[in-house]
Amino acid sequence: MPELPEMEIVARRLDAALPGQVVESALAPGINALKTFDPPLHALEGQAFTGVKRRGKLLVLELDELVVLVHLMTAGRMQLNPKRGSLRDKAARLMLRLPGDHELRVREFGSKQAMWLKVLRPEALEEDPALASLGPEAWPDPPPLRELLAAQGARPLHAVLRDQHVIAGIGRSWVDEILWTAQLSPFKRADDLDDEEADALRAACIERLDGAIDHYERVVELPIPDKLPMPLEVHRHQGEPCPRCGTTIEAVHYEDYVMCYCPHDQTSGRVLKDRRLSRLLK
Ligand SMILES: [Zn+2]
Repeated sequence: MPELPEMEIVARRLDAALPGQVVESALAPGINALKTFDPPLHALEGQAFTGVKRRGKLLVLELDELVVLVHLMTAGRMQLNPKRGSLRDKAARLMLRLPGDHELRVREFGSKQAMWLKVLRPEALEEDPALASLGPEAWPDPPPLRELLAAQGARPLHAVLRDQHVIAGIGRSWVDEILWTAQLSPFKRADDLDDEEADALRAACIERLDGAIDHYERVVELPIPDKLPMPLEVHRHQGEPCPRCGTTIEAVHYEDYVMCYCPHDQTSGRVLKDRRLSRLLK
């Protein structure tokens, strides 16, 4: 979180609200959050928003003569607030003060400072390594996946689908959902898909990301909540019955995330080794 569907709804809601609003002041208080120094942050002051777009999991804030590229990483949230927040807010990474006491604020939860932003001239946007290195978008029209994934060799699907250089927009939550929908093992090799499996995987990307965005269109309004109501069926549902077949959803725990799958639908009944469990048992 946040991934393609979450960023898409944030972009849509901000794109409907921000255009025409002029930045009165700009501050980026986080350590190392601002990755550029020319043009300077204060060059945003006096400029009006013209639109907000999404690319992969990134947001592009467009203003008269500048753009702001933002990657919220795992714990960043972008909020358009009707009232300005405190300047002493330790979670604040970007504060764009707008007319009428309104404010666009990026906050980051947790102890790590990972989110970043860049102030760029529009002509420099596409060349920025963060965008130039992105693979094709996973939604709304991902490319045929068999060849794209085969170039990744033996890497497991669970890693390859989250690799933004291969395909853009999918992260730890939606990869579990997409693989479950396609009924493919998270550990299947990327170069081991037949045409039918590759088609099912592509269809699952469209179905699940589309479904999530439709869901957010119905339930998410400004101000955007910190925690979006993600319509997940498998991810973080370990121990619960699979919504398709009733088998208990299993999990593999990694250091800072969890991968969930249905053994019946995805791994021919095999329960994959859980590293956390095996470490505890040593
Ligand atoms: Zn199942």
